[in-house]
Amino acid sequence: MSESSGATMLEPHTPVHLSSTPHVITRGQGVTVWDADGREYLDGVAGLWCVTLGYSEPRLVEAATRQLERLPFYGSFNHRTNDVALALAEDIAEIAPIPMGRTFFANSGSEANDSAMKFAWYYHQALGRRQRRKILSHRCGYHGTTTAAASATGLSHIHAGFGAPLPGFVRVHCPDPLSPVARDLGPERFVDWLVQELEELIAEEGPETIAAFIGEPILGAGGLIIPPEGYYQRVQEVLARHDILFIADEVITGFGRTGSMFGTTEFGLRPDLVTVAKGLSSAYLPISAVLVGERVCAALAEGSREFRTFGHGFTYSGHPVAAAVARETIAILRERDIPGRVRAAGTVLANALDKFRGADGIRDVRSYGLLGAVEVDPARFGVGTGQVGPAVLEAAAAEGLLLRAMGDTLVLAPPLVSSDDELERMVDRLATAYDRFR
Ligand code: PLP
Repeated sequence: MSESSGATMLEPHTPVHLSSTPHVITRGQGVTVWDADGREYLDGVAGLWCVTLGYSEPRLVEAATRQLERLPFYGSFNHRTNDVALALAEDIAEIAPIPMGRTFFANSGSEANDSAMKFAWYYHQALGRRQRRKILSHRCGYHGTTTAAASATGLSHIHAGFGAPLPGFVRVHCPDPLSPVARDLGPERFVDWLVQELEELIAEEGPETIAAFIGEPILGAGGLIIPPEGYYQRVQEVLARHDILFIADEVITGFGRTGSMFGTTEFGLRPDLVTVAKGLSSAYLPISAVLVGERVCAALAEGSREFRTFGHGFTYSGHPVAAAVARETIAILRERDIPGRVRAAGTVLANALDKFRGADGIRDVRSYGLLGAVEVDPARFGVGTGQVGPAVLEAAAAEGLLLRAMGDTLVLAPPLVSSDDELERMVDRLATAYDRFR
């Protein structure tokens, strides 16, 4: 191991002024990772919600190696592509949760979301609705950090220091069942309230100026928010009435995490475009995609007849090695019925998390599939918002557990291949860490 201080790397989502060395992970096996000092951790958050098949799936390594040896790269511009990207698009079409037009490949969730928003613009331009530019999203939504994805992201820490988001990005209330208004109104009237807010906002902005609404089926980085039942259905009715496209950001929920292959199916949504990343390749290589629905795709085709070009795409769109890994990931997800396994494992996780219910200082416990959250009330400890989460995170690391803290919400998003015993051990370690913090 070299004794690097990490001083040359500008670390993502890390204050630049920090002078301490970062925590360095050097090895992984199954759902366990080891750091540079040899300490062992259960990875309760699958890297960054993404290593769905764990850290040592030999089939993914072999798929990458075989492809590296055969054709390490060929791009996809100007009607020339590689065989693996085409085959992956076919694989995706087989399992897609919407009537498919085509699949566009990118390299990250942010790029997929930027692309989807641009496709919404192109769609409306193709239909002659040139004013339709605005993008609606949630105040607690996270869609990435490229320029448009960051602008659609509502979380304020993503904007601090970078100035205001781009104009034309408009936010709606968070569908958070724990928000004060939700608590006042109760679940059904809360959905009515959210829908009315959306209607009013659309009227105020002018429906003829709005291109699309982007939303996560379960909102991840905003604090694992599970919208109230029927919320997205009602939102979709409003959007459809105003010819506003719906983009489902399935970067977290795609590829098994909720117990279905896609959150879109799990929650009965009908998006026009679906964005995926993370679990598409179990994060072994970077690849993301936009699933472009039939109707949007038909308009893109019409548009490109008129514009004579489709000026969008990346050098690495459909990278063959990443595509080979993604193909193998999908094959494994299907062969081993990983979504089915997630449904069973989700019950194990939910039961294990029950030990937090009613415990001192716990505001809420929630889970869906292999997403789980324990929300702590900082007021109980006499500290400000956002201070408990990081402290418990540190205590958890000392107990041999890695997880995420979204403010004071501690989030588990373990690999989908975690055993029952591993899930229970993760929650036990979290409980010990919380007790130590208290
Ligand atoms: N969308 C969602 C829902 C995400 O959770 C993330 C990342 O966590 C992104 C988009 C951005 O993905 P990336 O970091 O690959 O750009």
